[in-house]
Amino acid sequence: MTRSVLVTGGARGIGLAVARAFAAAGDKVTVTYRTTAPPPDLPGYRCDVTSPDDVSRAITEVEALHGPVEVLIANAGVTRDKLLLRMTEDDFDATLDTNLRGAFRVAKRVAPAMLKARRGRIVFISSTVGLRGEQGQSNYAASKAGLIGFARSLAWEFGKRGVTVNVVAPGLTDTDMTAVLPEQRIADMCAQIPLQRMATPEEIADVVRFVASPQASYLTGAVIPVDGGASMGH
Ligand code: NDP
Repeated sequence: MTRSVLVTGGARGIGLAVARAFAAAGDKVTVTYRTTAPPPDLPGYRCDVTSPDDVSRAITEVEALHGPVEVLIANAGVTRDKLLLRMTEDDFDATLDTNLRGAFRVAKRVAPAMLKARRGRIVFISSTVGLRGEQGQSNYAASKAGLIGFARSLAWEFGKRGVTVNVVAPGLTDTDMTAVLPEQRIADMCAQIPLQRMATPEEIADVVRFVASPQASYLTGAVIPVDGGASMGH
């Protein structure tokens, strides 16, 4: 079954791997991007998820190309790491505005068509940091934990209409987001992971694609860590 799949922040990193995984399975995939344009084989629409107008316009364009969005992967996210005592209002708000409110805006825009069609898949990309917390990431952790409560509420609201809503929580993954970390810090973090290494974006993408697949028809409100075992027990 070919579906219309939208991945926010799908031009690089985990989002790009997710987009490629759906495209390889035969789905009609579009991505949104803020600054980095996607590769030429992936239709992309510029959309800053902090702008309600951008979200509305971009999704209208996606619908014109591929029809109503049947699978939404809300992936766009940022970090603004600082210890609490140095964190500004802006650091906190900007992170929440992209990671949590951005996901709210996109989900709200695509939900009516899914509910009308009585089928659909929404997957939010959270983080194990939302489960465990992390020094210097209180804003990011709050945004990613917030996604869990948000997703589970939507799972209740949409379940009777056949729309599933789940969360995938990656652990340390090899992308631009982690490329800024010092090598020693990465090594220290990998030492705390049962599998002793970072994930590749493709390893996250495979799980996201399963969660959004017809085979995952009885899965909703779930939080699935893909983290080499790092968050066991959380
Ligand atoms: P990257 O920094 O490589 O990519 C982030 C993506 O989000 C980019 O496509 C970026 O677009 C997009 N984005 C950021 N801000 C906005 C915005 N305001 N509007 C629209 N798009 C935006 O990170 P990853 O691929 O690593 O991260 C993807 C997701 O996975 C994020 O939600 C992140 O929090 C999460 N995650 C990542 C982990 C990791 O270790 N890498 C671990 C756990 C979760 P642009 O290129 O245009 O800036």
